[in-house]
This record gives sequence, structure tokens and C-alpha cells, in this order.
Amino acid sequence: MRIDILTLFPEILEGALTASLLGKAIDKGLLEVGVANIRDFADDRHRTVDDEPYGGGAGMVMQCAPLYAAVESLRGRNSLERVILLSPRGRRLDQQVVRELAAQPDLVLLCARYEGVDERVSEGLVTDEISIGDYVLSGGELPALVLVEAVSRMLPGVIGDWESVETDSFFSGILGPPQYTRPPEFRGMAVPPVLREGNHAAIARWRRKQALRVTRARRPDLLIDMTEEDKKLLAELEREARATEKENEP
Ligand code: SAH
Repeated sequence: MRIDILTLFPEILEGALTASLLGKAIDKGLLEVGVANIRDFADDRHRTVDDEPYGGGAGMVMQCAPLYAAVESLRGRNSLERVILLSPRGRRLDQQVVRELAAQPDLVLLCARYEGVDERVSEGLVTDEISIGDYVLSGGELPALVLVEAVSRMLPGVIGDWESVETDSFFSGILGPPQYTRPPEFRGMAVPPVLREGNHAAIARWRRKQALRVTRARRPDLLIDMTEEDKKLLAELEREARATEKENEP
């Protein structure tokens, strides 16, 4: 897969694209990432990319011409089928969107700055607008990195152990189960015995049940499309919760 990122601040992206799993994925050629500076596509001496908003008001707006030129310069290297503007007005990124984007052969990510981009960029250049959440950042670089990292985890070979992707939160539509590592007891808190007993079927069942418990407590909105086995585990959780309530009655 190829991802081209257009930005005014390539230096923000550098560290994240060279370190850890993402860096390795790029080294191994599982993912190709191109970073280009939008300023290189300005056509005046001062390399201007922004101007005052029509109608007045605070801040500056990114101009059409450099953005169109930057995207069009990718022709031949990128299909330009998905040109994505990172924007707080966009569709909210979630695991389903991540999976859909990971199935594309390539993407273009446009990172804006200042007060955003001229509306005609949305109208005539981009195919999608994506938001990483209902808050406002100062630029699209961190959102672009969020998207690239999430998408990269879905590409074959990036995560050595696919099982760890399958047990991630949201992969199967619900939150992930609790995890433990050594020591077996820390400040009076013990690791659940089932995890140390080596019965893989029992461990898998425990994990699914705990994932359901955490999801029911924190994100009940995610509990849709439950399998019969999930319903059984949830019913067990209900019974256990009622039993503890009884025990705690005065
Ligand atoms: N005035 C704009 C916000 C500009 S913030 C508005 O109210 O919509 C500057 C840039 O940062 C945006 O154009 C976008 O590229 C990026 N950005 C800020 N918050 C974001 C978010 N939650 N998701 C994705 N991109 C975001």
C-alpha cells in the first residue's frame, strides 16, 4: 500500500514514520509513505500558501492552487482515488473506516493548518474528509499519523502476530480483555489463576467473557450483533453480578 502525505510541516511526521512498528513496516516495504511539502507547490517568490479570508475574520485560509498542484503532482505514483482531507468536519475515524481504507491500494492525506482550507478544495479536490474526534487541533499532521498507524496495523505482515490484532479493542467490535504480565502478584493484586493454568480453551473463554464485561461497563453501545456464545457469557456475568450484590447486602 502507498500513502502520500501533503503537509506544511514534514518534520512533524519524520519521527513517527521512522520509529517502531511503523518504521519497520516502511523498511520492509509493506507500506510506502511519501511526504511532500505543500509549500514547494506555491508559485510565487515568497512561497505563499495562505491568504486572508473573504468576508473578513480571524486567521488565514489555505489557498486552492498549491493544494491542487501538490495533489496533481502525485499523478503516476498514486491513483488519486482517495484524496482525504483531515478535518474536524469529516467523518469520524473508527475501526470500520480504518479497515475500509486499509483495503485501498493507495491514499492521499492532506494536512491543513491555520483556519483550514478554501472550501473549493473540499468541493473539487478531496474525495473524503476524516476527523479523528470532536476536538480541534492546530493541524492535520497528528490526525494523519493516527490514520496511517491505524491503517498500517491492518496490513498483512505489519504486526508479526496476527492474533494480537484480532484481540485488539474494536477488531471484533468490542473492547479488548485485561492483560497481565509478571510478577504473579503485585502489591496484593493477583493475576487471575485461569491465565496461569495453561488451559487454552478456558483462557480464550475467560478473555472473551472479560472483554464483554469491560465493554458492558464502559461502552454498552458496542454490544450489538452478539453470538449465542456471547449471550451466554453475558448472562453468566449478570448472574455473577447479582450474586455479589447479595453477598454484600447487610
Ligand atoms: N477552523 C477549522 C479548524 C482548523 S484547525 C474548523 O473549525 O473546522 C486546522 C487544521 O487542523 C484543520 O484544517 C485540519 O486539517 C486539522 N484538524 C484539526 N482538528 C482535527 C480533527 N479533530 N480531526 C482531523 N483534523 C483536524
